[in-house]
Amino acid sequence: PFFQPIFDLISGKIVGCEVLARWVKADGSIVLPYQFIPLSEQTGRIVPLTWQLVDNALAQLRPYLRSDKNFRVAFNFGASHLLQPGFADDLRRHVTGARVGSRNIVIELTEREELPDLDHAANLISSLQERGYVIALDDAGTGHSGLSYVQKLGADVIKIDKFFVDSVVTTRSARVLIELLVNLAKELGMTTVAEGIETQEQADALRSLGVDKGQGYLVSPAVPCAKFLALLELNKLSRELAETTRAA
Ligand code: C2E
Ligand code: CA
Ligand code: CA
Repeated sequence: PFFQPIFDLISGKIVGCEVLARWVKADGSIVLPYQFIPLSEQTGRIVPLTWQLVDNALAQLRPYLRSDKNFRVAFNFGASHLLQPGFADDLRRHVTGARVGSRNIVIELTEREELPDLDHAANLISSLQERGYVIALDDAGTGHSGLSYVQKLGADVIKIDKFFVDSVVTTRSARVLIELLVNLAKELGMTTVAEGIETQEQADALRSLGVDKGQGYLVSPAVPCAKFLALLELNKLSRELAETTRAA
């Protein structure tokens, strides 16, 4: 597991992370997910791979999670994995096995894979929410599903794709679409996270459009756990410093 920070667009505080799979080879070179996730999805290997990633990531982050109860760790789950019978029980086993609270866990469900049964998915989402998990819709607005999907599923978070973030500064239609997603989220009691933020101008534009949180190279790419923990420490110190300077 590699960890990419998710930060509050107003305060700059790192409030969570997304766990992204990396295959580190014996020679230290890194294989990116697009080279192995699609194949592992086709072969069903994605299920053990995901649980291994969950176990590893939570074991590494546990000391930090115990010190910050509000910190949220997001994992990517494909629709076919989520809809397998017994998913909720499997999830509970892995999360309690790691001695972590369900409130620390975000389940990112991508739009890439079409949901065969929207009602079943909506029921599952609400039962996971009852158990304390946070549900995020990944890649919103890019799939085949349209906005009724967002409304029907009843998730907690909309993730705004990098595709829209790339042109938020330069293209009016991107801003219009983001505003639409932000308004939809507010209307449905959801929050928004924008991904792929590379510049301060993009972060400023997203904040002014009402997006809550962000993720992207502006703050950090996905990094190994030790580096991620160092980033958290640095983020805390720089915010304390800003606080002291303001007070003075
Ligand atoms: P995603 O879930 O949409 O993840 C966001 C992708 O955007 C990540 O790519 C991340 O590294 C990249 N990214 C974030 N910020 C920036 C930025 O500022 N600039 C640029 N250029 N890229 C940025 P990554 O890690 O290559 O993952 C690609 C996709 O593979 C993910 O897209 C996700 O759908 C899938 N994936 C990754 N790990 C897992 C996993 O453990 N399980 C499953 N099912 N899918 C995974
Ligand atoms: Ca994701
Ligand atoms: Ca995404």
